Amino acid sequence: MNKLLIVGTVAFDAIETPFGKTDKILGGAATYIGLSAAQFDIESAIVSVVGDDFPQDYLDLLKNRNIDITGTEIVKGGKTFFWSGKYHNDLNSRDTLDTQLNVLADFQPVVPEDFKTPDIVMLGNLHPLVQLSVLEQLKRPKLVVLDTMNFWMDNTWDDLMKVIEKVDVLTINDEEARQLTEEYSLVKAARKIAKMGPKYVVIKKGEHGALLFHNNQIFFAPALPLEEVFDPTGAGDTFAGGFTGYLAHTGDISFKNMKNAVIYGSTLASFCVEKFGTERMQDLKKEEVHERLEDFKSLTQFQIKLT
Ligand code: AMP
Repeated sequence: MNKLLIVGTVAFDAIETPFGKTDKILGGAATYIGLSAAQFDIESAIVSVVGDDFPQDYLDLLKNRNIDITGTEIVKGGKTFFWSGKYHNDLNSRDTLDTQLNVLADFQPVVPEDFKTPDIVMLGNLHPLVQLSVLEQLKRPKLVVLDTMNFWMDNTWDDLMKVIEKVDVLTINDEEARQLTEEYSLVKAARKIAKMGPKYVVIKKGEHGALLFHNNQIFFAPALPLEEVFDPTGAGDTFAGGFTGYLAHTGDISFKNMKNAVIYGSTLASFCVEKFGTERMQDLKKEEVHERLEDFKSLTQFQIKLT
């Protein structure tokens, strides 16, 4: 079975959307990535850190999905990473209200022995030096995918540049792609990012779908039009988990197969937003995913007669 190594935050989130508000609930980039990638028959592990204020139930939830968490350190007397955000009425944009690094501030990641030669690495959102340190502990994987966000561009630009040049794929949202490159056109932004290192660039556009760029080729997948959108938190990470989970499962990292991975990622993300936090991803069934993949096909297929 192919191996996927996931790095990222395992966190407490407090979220406010026009539909409601939560106190501290389970969140974190690696959590969403792991739950999403758990839809595939692969071996996965999360390298992360939490404090001893983190409930055992949350850790069990990951373990019960067959995710190896031996590389998720529990710091005695430490406080878990905390993020809080508030969505605007259209749910397309949000303000970060608070980011408390806590135990993440001095985290030294250790990759479990079993995962030192993974097929694919998903470097989820977290300090770029932690992402880099994980890469340095590995035999070069087939594919390294990086996700990041404005917080790290604002606070750790130089470190972020060091990790970007080492990865094969960058997944990033449209606003962050513009911040990273100072280009408004996403086509120009993707070209600039490719010059920084990643040969493949995925730009996520929330409810407007996702774009995949490679050399001069572009692939576009829309997002499924949904009746219920409750909480977009984690949609980007769920996308990344679906994208890398599918690539690990198939073992095929060609551009052609990456298109399918984008579709899988978008489909899984469409479930994530239907409930608060990780709730929807916790009991998601394969059959539901397959049904929605069929919906995706009929949404995008057409036969046109040229006049
Ligand atoms: P997304 O909505 O896909 O951007 O991901 C939201 C998740 O990212 C939340 O569960 C947060 O805990 C986590 N998160 C927020 N800010 C950061 C950050 N600066 N570094 C790492 N993870 C973060």
